[in-house]
Amino acid sequence: MRIGVPKEIKTNENRVALVPAGAEALVASGHDVFIETGAGIGSGFEDAAYVAVGAQIVPDAASAWGKAELLLKVKEPIAPEWQYLRPDLTLFTYFHFAADEALTQAHLASGATCIAYETVELPNRDLPLLIPMSEVAGRMAVQEGAKYLEKLYGGRGVLLGGVPGVAPAKVVILGGGIVGVNAAKMAAGLGAKVVVLDLSLERLRYLSDVMPANVQLVHSNRHNILEQISTCDLVIGGVLIPGAKAPKLVRRADLAKMRPGAVIVDVAVDQGGCVETIKPTTHENPTYTVDGIIHYGVANMPGAVPRTSTLALTNATLPYTLQLANKGWKKALKDNGALLKGLNMSGGKVTFPGVAEAFGMEL
Ligand code: NAD
Repeated sequence: MRIGVPKEIKTNENRVALVPAGAEALVASGHDVFIETGAGIGSGFEDAAYVAVGAQIVPDAASAWGKAELLLKVKEPIAPEWQYLRPDLTLFTYFHFAADEALTQAHLASGATCIAYETVELPNRDLPLLIPMSEVAGRMAVQEGAKYLEKLYGGRGVLLGGVPGVAPAKVVILGGGIVGVNAAKMAAGLGAKVVVLDLSLERLRYLSDVMPANVQLVHSNRHNILEQISTCDLVIGGVLIPGAKAPKLVRRADLAKMRPGAVIVDVAVDQGGCVETIKPTTHENPTYTVDGIIHYGVANMPGAVPRTSTLALTNATLPYTLQLANKGWKKALKDNGALLKGLNMSGGKVTFPGVAEAFGMEL
């Protein structure tokens, strides 16, 4: 099969959908791989690294798209790329159709087959192509929180791990899912006193088995949240209610009870955030202050560490990419129920319930 990988053109998107190791695996399976020149640069992969494993470099986006039967991307195709959509093209990327009607209509009208990373779902309901980005964001939340706690950035001037004779900082993590557990590991590793709050007692039991001794597990309710945030230095928001907006667990009035110069990193900002006063920010201008509390609301945190994010994402996508390439999309989806859940549309028809519901369309 012919596989195309264009350079991402969304602002500040430095990830790439295929690394040289993935290109090597596809070439070894007998496929032709076409990489747009410079596609890997933002993640530290030169054209030569792809050529060395048998991929071909093409000069522009039109060639990468035009030659492809299977097109691999990271972000959804944006308007300048819609001209390349065609009925005999299969796209494998993040789409998030339900959030964007123009995007959905453009892809429907093209008749292309669209398989969305974000809806590939395992039988246990895990979303294997979203997990790597939550892992990155959870770990990064601690790094960013530590930075903005520094006095220079307006923070309390507290070092997460403390030093001998000085107590460590306290980090409160709302939600003990993928983001929460990764944040907890990092904060605990730095020596902070960590508290994770989750609604699920089953999850808290599991975490109590696997987390180090400086991580305390607390049931999430209004009373406990207020008690914990009023004595902490860093709050990390990582709650998720699948398919819904995040619940507002920290309200504006609660900020007055927090310590001035404390930091909130609300990773759940992409679902509206679990802090009432959070709003989406960018890597160029990541923070703002409300009532003396520093707020960090970057909606695409993994974008700051594209090399790690690309490797993490492609580790997870490559097994599915290989199935799509080796079998063709119809057979690959028939054989793999998780991948079948990824099918959002084909031949001008929506096939994913969440997208149909969002725009009142028939399945
Ligand atoms: P997850 O499903 O693994 O975990 C969510 C956890 O929240 C679950 O353990 C659940 O029990 C818990 N929860 C639900 N309601 C709660 C409540 N009231 N109190 C306490 N806990 C509660 O989800 P995840 O993968 O960790 O993702 C968390 C959020 O981070 C999502 O909104 C995701 O989209 C977002 N995210 C953002 C970025 C970014 O760059 N900002 C990157 C990746 C993920």
